[in-house]
Amino acid sequence: MTVRQHLKSARDKLAELSSGRLEAEVLLAHCLGSPRSLLYADPDLEVPNQRSELFQQLIERRLSGEPIAYLTGSREFWSLSLKVTPDVLIPRPETELLVELALKRIPRDGRWRIADLGTGSGAVALALASERRGCRVFGTDTSQAAIDLAGENAQRLAIENVSFTLGSWCKPLTGRFNLIISNPPYVARNDPHLSKGDCRFEPLRALSPGEDSLAALRSIASESMGHLAPGGWLMLEHGPDQGEAVRGILREREYTDIFTERDLLGHERVTGGRMNS
Ligand code: GLN
Repeated sequence: MTVRQHLKSARDKLAELSSGRLEAEVLLAHCLGSPRSLLYADPDLEVPNQRSELFQQLIERRLSGEPIAYLTGSREFWSLSLKVTPDVLIPRPETELLVELALKRIPRDGRWRIADLGTGSGAVALALASERRGCRVFGTDTSQAAIDLAGENAQRLAIENVSFTLGSWCKPLTGRFNLIISNPPYVARNDPHLSKGDCRFEPLRALSPGEDSLAALRSIASESMGHLAPGGWLMLEHGPDQGEAVRGILREREYTDIFTERDLLGHERVTGGRMNS
């Protein structure tokens, strides 16, 4: 079968998905080990049998709900192409807001010490380290598989001002930080969101801290107090209905300059504050 024939049949199968056409192209390009543009440049190319079979398998797995990022093993985040596996959360576009807000505060030639708690694939840590080469970024995670993957991503992207260490939130950190940033688990265990879409295949502990959706956000706000430099920033991603609660958590712990920003969908998504100087 040719590229054109494969795409036609896969598009029909994936028709019920909103981005079925694009996904068929992404998966076929992945199987061919080529950029997507090749599919347009050479639609009459015969697809070798082995690659055809792999493509059919991936289409079936996609039809059963597996996230496209786990099928291709990669996802774009910020300007980086990251390797992702089912050991880590798939980086989300809304998390780019966290990066954007951090970059607004870190001077271009800054030499900040930055910690990314629950780093997963390393997405946030790597985006910050790549944009601010003078800074030193430390990522932590309780999953050894995540730490290994984040390290592999750093190596593949040749980002050297970053390192990753196994351990819970601030536990592996030493010294004081100018910025502590995190996209922690914040979805309540009984939230129906967890049984939909990509979430069904992602590590539950990366999505949900348990029954209390604020548990991880609270722990991080408390632990960070002992690790921020005077005037250092704490910045947290959270759920759309958690802005007020997170501002409360920071206020109780006497953070100052507390702010919340909305994501592209208009949801409160990132809240931050500063350690008293
Ligand atoms: N924003 C993600 C979602 O709604 C959750 C990410 C997280 O828990 N940190 O699927």
